[in-house]
Amino acid sequence: MKKSIFKKKELRRDLTKRELKKQGYKKKDFRKKAAAKIAVSAKKEASRKNESDKYTPEKSKAQKSVEKKVGSNRTHDIAAQRIGSGAAGRTAERGYRKAGQKKAAGRYPGEKGLGSGDRLKKNNENMKREPAPSLRIIPLGGLEQIGMNITAFEYGDSIVVVDCGLAFPEDDMFGIDLVIPDTTYLEENLDKVKAFVITHGHEDHIGALPYVLKKINVPVYGTRLTMGIIENKLREHNLLEITELHVVSFGDIVELGEFDVEFIKTNHSIVDAAALAIKSPAGTIVHTGDFKVDYTPVYGDAIDLQRFAELGNEGVLALMCDSTNSERPGHTPSEKAVGRNIDQIFRDHADTRIIVATFASNVDRVQQIINHAYKYGRKVVVEGRSMVNIIETATKLDVLNVPENTLIDIDQLKNYPGEKTVIITTGSQGESMAALSRMADGMHRKVTIGPGDTVVFSSSPIPGNEKAVTSVVNKLLLKGADVITQDVHTSGHPCQEDVKLIYHLVQPRYAIPVHGEFRHLKAQAKIARQMGYSKEDIFILHSGDVLELSEDGAFVREKVQVGNILVDGLGVGDVGNVVLRDRQHLAEDGIVIVAFALDSQTCELLSGPEITSRGFVYIKEADDLMTGAAAVAEEAIYHCIENGVTDWNRYKNVVKDGLNDFFWKKTQRRPVILPMILEV
Ligand SMILES: [Zn+2]
Ligand SMILES: [Zn+2]
Repeated sequence: MKKSIFKKKELRRDLTKRELKKQGYKKKDFRKKAAAKIAVSAKKEASRKNESDKYTPEKSKAQKSVEKKVGSNRTHDIAAQRIGSGAAGRTAERGYRKAGQKKAAGRYPGEKGLGSGDRLKKNNENMKREPAPSLRIIPLGGLEQIGMNITAFEYGDSIVVVDCGLAFPEDDMFGIDLVIPDTTYLEENLDKVKAFVITHGHEDHIGALPYVLKKINVPVYGTRLTMGIIENKLREHNLLEITELHVVSFGDIVELGEFDVEFIKTNHSIVDAAALAIKSPAGTIVHTGDFKVDYTPVYGDAIDLQRFAELGNEGVLALMCDSTNSERPGHTPSEKAVGRNIDQIFRDHADTRIIVATFASNVDRVQQIINHAYKYGRKVVVEGRSMVNIIETATKLDVLNVPENTLIDIDQLKNYPGEKTVIITTGSQGESMAALSRMADGMHRKVTIGPGDTVVFSSSPIPGNEKAVTSVVNKLLLKGADVITQDVHTSGHPCQEDVKLIYHLVQPRYAIPVHGEFRHLKAQAKIARQMGYSKEDIFILHSGDVLELSEDGAFVREKVQVGNILVDGLGVGDVGNVVLRDRQHLAEDGIVIVAFALDSQTCELLSGPEITSRGFVYIKEADDLMTGAAAVAEEAIYHCIENGVTDWNRYKNVVKDGLNDFFWKKTQRRPVILPMILEV
C-alpha cells in the first residue's frame, strides 16, 4: 500500500503554502510525492490569486495585510465573503457571517479598522465579474434506503466522492446478494473524479467499492482500519494491485483538485471513524459520517470536538449530520457503559459457557469481551469468517489487543470446561448462514448448544432483521440455553442532544440531514428548527438531487440519474426489473411447463402435450388436475390446427390462455405457464 503524505493541519493553519516552501518545511516534512503536490497547489494558489487580483485591482493595504496574516485561510475568507455578500440579508444572525467578523476583528488582533462589513462592501464594489461556479452536492444513494451511502461533491472540474456503500436486498429481491448504487453520473464525468474519501469501514459506506472501482479507478483515501478492511475486500476481488490506496491520519488534509479534505476524529461502532471537512472555494462542508460522541471510548481518543468548534469559527457553509438516532432524546451512552454490563454477565454466569454474538466490525465491543474473558480466566474462540477476518486485520493494525494465550482454536474447545471459555461469533442479526444460526439449528460442526450455555446478543437488530433474530432466539431457548438480549449494546449514532452539540459547534449556514430513513432526516430537521434554523436553510435531499450552493444561495434545480444495481453471483446489473418480476411470480405461484411436438409441414400434433410443474402442486398427488390440464391444452392445440394456424407463437398463447383459465377455476392460483413446442 502506498502511503501518501499530507500537509499537517498545524502548519497549514497559520502559514500559506508558499511561506511553507520558503521556510523549507517541504524538505523536512514532506516526501517527494507530497512536494509535487504542493508545487501543483502553489501553482493553483497563484492562479487563484491572479483571478482574485482581477476582481480587486486596487487592494487596500489593510486588505492585503489581512490576506497575508490569514494565510492558508484565504480561500475561506473569499468564500465567506462570496456567500456572505449574496445571502447577507437573510442570515445576518447566523454563524457563517459571524465567523467572518470574528476572523477579521478578533482572531487576528493586529488588524484594525477592517470589520467584515467593510470588507464585504469593498468586495461588492470590486466584484464586477461572472458568478463563481457553485459547489454541487449530489447524493447518489443512501437517502431513500438504509445503506448505499455515496455522495459526490463537485466544484468546477473537480469531483470528490464521499463513501461508496452497498445496501442489502429487500425481502422481495429474490436471489439478489447485494445492491450497489448507479454511478452513471460519475462515469459520465470520469475525468473530473479525483478520489473516493471514506468515512469508516462499515459495509454501507465501503461495500460497493470493489464494483465501482472497476469503472471508476481513482485513488481511495481513508484512515487506518478503514483502509485495512478495504484492502481485504479489494484483495478478494483481485483489485489490490491496480488501486491506489492512501492511509491518512486524523488532522491530515488531502488536496484533491479544487477540494481540500480534512479528516477529523469521531467515535462510532467501529474504530477509526472520521468526519470530513470538505473545503472548496465556495466554502466548507462538514460531513460527520456515522458518529457518536463518546467521552470514554474503549480505543483511542474521544471525538475531536475542538476541531469542530474551530471549523465553526472559521465558517462552515453546510453541515451534513448523521440522523440515524435523531428521534431519540438525550445522549448516546458510551461504549464503556456496555463494558459494565458485560462484566455483570460474566459474574452472573460464572458456571456456564458464554457465547457472544456481535457485529464483526465492532472492534471495541470485541475488545471488551476479550478483556473480560481475560479478567475471568476464560479462553476465547472466534467463530465466523468475517469475525476471524476483522480480528486478524484489527490485531495487525494494533487497534485490537489480545492478551497472550487468550485466543484458542475452535478445535481446542473440548479441552476446556465450558465455564472457562467464551465464543465470540457472527450472526447477531439472525443471518441464516452465520455461525450462530447454524448453532441454533444444530448444524454447527464444532459447537452444540445446551443448558450449559449463556448466549448474549451484543447488538440490536437492524430494522428488518427483527423476525430473523427472534427466530434464532427461540431456537436457542428451545435447546435450553439462557439468552440475554437486553442492555448489552449501545448505539454508534448520536441522539438528539449530541446532534445539537455538533450544530452548536459547527454553526453551519445550511443544514443537510443525512444517514437514516426519511423519518430520521425529518427528526433532525426538527432539531435544526428548534435551534433557530429557518425552513429554507434546511435541505432534506433525495438521491439524485443536485444541491447547488453559491453566492446566490442554495437551490435544487437539477437531478442526475440514480438507482439500484443488483448483484447476483458474478452478474452485476444483469438482473433488472423484468427478471426480478419473474422471480417474484415464480416464487409466489410456481411454474407449469407444457411440452408438445408439432409437424413443421402439416402442423399435426405428433406427441404430447405433456405437463410438468415446479412449486405449483405436487404432481403425484394432483393426478386429476394434471390430466384435466393436459386435456385443456390438447383441445387448445386442436382448435389452432382446425383453424389453420401456422404461427407457433399463436399456439403458445392459445394454450397459455386455456390453462390460465383452467388453473384459476380449479385452484385460484396463477402459476407461470411455459408452453414449449418441439418442431419435428
Ligand atoms: Zn452507516
Ligand atoms: Zn457506520
